[in-house]
Amino acid sequence: MRTALTAITEELKRLKAGGVRAVSISEESLQGLRALTAKRRAPATPASESTKAEPVVSFRPKAAVSFAPKPAPGAAAAAIALPPSPQFTLPAGDKATRWAALREIVLGDATCKAQVRAGKQVVFGVGNIDAKIMFVGEAPGAEEEVQGEPFVGPAGQLLTKMISGMGLTRGDVYIGNIMNWRPAMPTDAGRDQVGNRAPTEAEMNYCLPYLRAQLEIVNPQVIVALGKTALEGLLGFGKFDTLGEARGNWHEFSGKPLMVTYHPSYILREPTNRKKRLIWEDLLKVMDRVALPISEK
Ligand code: URA
Repeated sequence: MRTALTAITEELKRLKAGGVRAVSISEESLQGLRALTAKRRAPATPASESTKAEPVVSFRPKAAVSFAPKPAPGAAAAAIALPPSPQFTLPAGDKATRWAALREIVLGDATCKAQVRAGKQVVFGVGNIDAKIMFVGEAPGAEEEVQGEPFVGPAGQLLTKMISGMGLTRGDVYIGNIMNWRPAMPTDAGRDQVGNRAPTEAEMNYCLPYLRAQLEIVNPQVIVALGKTALEGLLGFGKFDTLGEARGNWHEFSGKPLMVTYHPSYILREPTNRKKRLIWEDLLKVMDRVALPISEK
């Protein structure tokens, strides 16, 4: 039992070090965890029991898991199952026309709207539709769902600093997220959600066509994925154990070069000089790729 709990703790530390801010656990895995901790509290276990196989605990989000806001007391507890990914057609026309049409489709998407709490917004990408660089984050947070714009909270302020360190402004780049809504966590009825969780694979797959469409319209030279969740949403789950393994090298998504670097919120939590230097190494490669001037500083 000790081994399993230690292994879980170490895996969680490893995920945290790799930039993961939340893990979603299926009900089945939760039961496994409960069984483990109950065993730990229980008095001496009979020898025959202690030799039984330990439940395997998985931290990989399962496609079938859906996270719905906790229903109001008395309401039927219905999990919101996501429908298949949206299919849509954009009108012919210039970039601005197609981008505006896409934005309208996303903001009006009934599934996206159903995931958003009252008074909060579905969030679509912003920035320069002729940008050379497209940043892709994970999902809106508390500030983003209020303002309806990606990266406007504390992580967004750091992203803005990173962009200005590249000699650019937010208006020079395009900023989007894999998800168009803030992944919900249960709260008491009427209370605001505190904290964030990583989106599930199913949630990311639902929203991915909208990101692909933005990518196709903007047609940047380079994509920068921010954090491991964004990387997994774009390149698929299970390819990299840690963000450290993937960052600093060029990957490809939809025929575009993709660089991955640490998510700004990870740097806010662990603002070490080493991590900051690694981000700059990644961004310098991006600047080089799009032929931006690089100063000695
Ligand atoms: N984190 C993200 O990944 N995206 C946002 O828009 C804000 C925080």
